[in-house]
Amino acid sequence: MSAPLLAAYSRVAALVADLWAHPEVGYQETYTSARIRDFLERQVPDVEITTFARTGLRLRLGPGHERAVALVAELDALIVPAHPAADPVTGAVHACGHHTQVGIACAVVAELATKPWDLPYDLVVVFVPAEEYIDLDTRRALRDAGEIAWFGGKPEAMRLGVFDDVDVAVLTHTMGGGYATPTVELDCDLAGFAYKHVTFHGRAAHAGFVPFAGINAASMAVLYQTAIGLGRQQLREDVLARLNPVVSSAPMTTNVIPDTARVSTDVRTIDLAYMSELSAKLDAMAQGAALAMGGVAEIDTEVGYFPFRQHRPLSVPFREAFHAGVPGIDSLLDDRGGSAAAGDVGDLSIMLPCIQIGYSGLEGTVHGADLHLADPVTVLDAVPRFVLDGLRRLGPCLEEVASYHGTYGQYVVNVARLGGTVLANGVESFQDLAQR
Ligand SMILES: [Zn+2]
Ligand SMILES: [Zn+2]
Repeated sequence: MSAPLLAAYSRVAALVADLWAHPEVGYQETYTSARIRDFLERQVPDVEITTFARTGLRLRLGPGHERAVALVAELDALIVPAHPAADPVTGAVHACGHHTQVGIACAVVAELATKPWDLPYDLVVVFVPAEEYIDLDTRRALRDAGEIAWFGGKPEAMRLGVFDDVDVAVLTHTMGGGYATPTVELDCDLAGFAYKHVTFHGRAAHAGFVPFAGINAASMAVLYQTAIGLGRQQLREDVLARLNPVVSSAPMTTNVIPDTARVSTDVRTIDLAYMSELSAKLDAMAQGAALAMGGVAEIDTEVGYFPFRQHRPLSVPFREAFHAGVPGIDSLLDDRGGSAAAGDVGDLSIMLPCIQIGYSGLEGTVHGADLHLADPVTVLDAVPRFVLDGLRRLGPCLEEVASYHGTYGQYVVNVARLGGTVLANGVESFQDLAQR
């Protein structure tokens, strides 16, 4: 470990330690948000900081250039009660390392504030709530109360227009432990997922006395699972398709023919078009199973996150930064193929080009009971300098790199295409939105 080079390093490290000690789950990151605001107000006192989606923060740095790049960090913790650092009451802990993303973004802001603005674009720094897809009952209540429309913080930010004036977005994320030297990663694609809940409806009857009067919903569930099992033979291998059907209905008794049975599965893949195709196949299997037994299948699809394809051209200046040499960064993992992990950066990438840079310096397993910051100097000093170098090199090619800009409306259309539920909250109609 070398000595830190950034002037703000110790302040950033103190902030990150504070966030580690105060983990909060999505849309409830009030302490986290307040501490970050304190930090930013000290570093860039003249810059307006806006709050969105309860706890999110956004600030725009720069002289008002036409183009803007977003640097995004996530605020929320996970629930892993077995983690020794978990909050004893809530079980929350930063087992996904989001507190270190906050540190990286804050270090970049602090460093940029030390000299006159020299980037040919503005930098929009966004601290987004609720990346983890957890605590859904609370989020449902918030949604029912009209406070949010989406469980994920990024779609919620998109709905609120947080990214409307931004051309491209750069994110960072821990890779977990096991790296011998300080390492960054570029171009690792992520899977997306939907949750599909199928409730089969039949007719209850005494299983001994009048079984012929019944319609067995559990039988439909078995047929559906059998179809999924046989159908796996036809799953594409190249796009990391994953299904995990589980019986999620209430227990049954043996003397009554069950009138309802529920099977839920996630539908996971790194290919958006294939996710739609797979979703439609599962619907057909469910309908077929119900039809075979004379019942009805009620299908409910929740879109979790979209698959994430890293925008390769946006990685180029960061790769150049690595090859030019950044003190404290020794290795680059480059385009090693996709991961079946997922994140709501996939949702954001529907709207604008995004990359997510991986970094070492934490030890343990991501989402495990042992993840922790092991090498703060790499994470909070070398990685921010690497990001800054890439951001500097991005300037001359930004216009070319920013090759598309979708709308929130197009995102909503994509959700609907997957069969997902879209709340009326702030949404007129898909057709209207598609034309925006
Ligand atoms: Zn994460
Ligand atoms: Zn996570």
